[in-house]
Amino acid sequence: MDDDLADRIATGDRRALARAVTLVESTRADHRAQAAALLDHLRGLGRQALRIGLSGTPGVGKSTFIEAFGMKLTDAGLKVAVLAVDPSSTRSGGSILGDKTRMERLSREKNAFIRPSPSAAALGGVARRTREAISLCEAAGFDVVLIETVGVGQSETMVAQMCDLFVLLLAPAGGDELQGVKRGIMEMADMILINKADGELKSTAIRTVSDYAGALRLLRKRPQDPDDFPKALAVSALEGEGLQTAWDEMQALAEWRRDHGFWDRTRAEQAAHWFEFEVREGLLARLREDQALRSAMTDLAQSVAAGEVTPTAAARQILDQMRG
Ligand code: GDP
Repeated sequence: MDDDLADRIATGDRRALARAVTLVESTRADHRAQAAALLDHLRGLGRQALRIGLSGTPGVGKSTFIEAFGMKLTDAGLKVAVLAVDPSSTRSGGSILGDKTRMERLSREKNAFIRPSPSAAALGGVARRTREAISLCEAAGFDVVLIETVGVGQSETMVAQMCDLFVLLLAPAGGDELQGVKRGIMEMADMILINKADGELKSTAIRTVSDYAGALRLLRKRPQDPDDFPKALAVSALEGEGLQTAWDEMQALAEWRRDHGFWDRTRAEQAAHWFEFEVREGLLARLREDQALRSAMTDLAQSVAAGEVTPTAAARQILDQMRG
């Protein structure tokens, strides 16, 4: 392991942090080994950040929100990291979420660290990279880690599984459009922020808030939700309105969960989940890397397709061969 890199991360050096994130993004076996050693070493620091997942469809105002919200937190003396998750991205050199023009002010803040999504990675790879990058940001002493994701596919579920709080950003809309938000995503949200509550959209935004507040109450009640959560609020990222209230509410929720034992329990469950994930990925990687197993897989796949052997029996053969 690179001791110097670990030491520099521990002092909050952003260039060292960026290098370490590049390391965890690599799939090379020697890099994976180095990353694992680095993460294990840094775990000893025992630092934790508030991990906030933020989801919303393109155009809803995520980058405007993160910039304004992030600036608010850095102005208050907090260190803020922003990680983007965009498994759909196939652009080279960073995704849509990594456009240089996004979050320009925040990116110049010395207490901020912004990292776009790696491009063209499979969801499993993005999940691992994001989880490990969160740990690196925590070790580097960041107080808040925002994990941004576009409102598509399974990325929300994945992000929710590595966060303390999950926030959904929506635009003001008529009642009919409430149906358009996937129920699964609504159910994950601890807080729905109706953005663009300014100018002509303000009154619509306030109506939308009450629509969602009602829907949320019907939709979800878990032990880890205090009485008044999940909650819907109006914000204007552009004018900075409602951001303080949103932050106060996020902190209140986090504190309540800490006080009631849910913080530690959720993190323990998440860690168990990722342990299983790593074992699964490791087994699959071993399958892919082993020449004999790979050709047995190819042969058996043909036999399965031809109806000569059942999928269950074929899978057992592979597992037996692996054991041998
Ligand atoms: P993203 O694709 O979700 O990251 O959305 P952006 O932050 O790029 O914003 C999309 C558009 O919405 C831009 O033209 C923003 O200026 C605008 N926008 C973002 N937040 C607000 C807001 O609070 N009020 C208004 N009126 N416009 C906003």
